[in-house]
Amino acid sequence: MVERIKETKETKKMNKDEKKKIEAYIHCRKCIDELPKDKSPQEFSAIEVGYTADGVLIWCKRHDCKITHLDNNFKYKEAVDLLMDYWDSIPDEAKPELHKALESLGV
Ligand SMILES: [Zn+2]
Repeated sequence: MVERIKETKETKKMNKDEKKKIEAYIHCRKCIDELPKDKSPQEFSAIEVGYTADGVLIWCKRHDCKITHLDNNFKYKEAVDLLMDYWDSIPDEAKPELHKALESLGV
């Protein structure tokens, strides 16, 4: 349960500072395709966000579909994908050991 905190000038500024950290908003593709000309994506979005057993699910209420599921390990998986992009430049003699280490991590 989220505790409500009385908004003061200080908390208002803190909230604005937190919002500035957003680098890209998450939207439903279908909603963006249907976006009315007089509305912004923020005004038109109909999103529900909730915890799942292994992450956070973002759901479009309008289209009743999943927008994305942010797995608890999504940053970790992105790092592994990045490593795979450079796999060919890793010395061949290091690959078996690295492969074994990655397997032991379950990736
Ligand atoms: Zn939608």
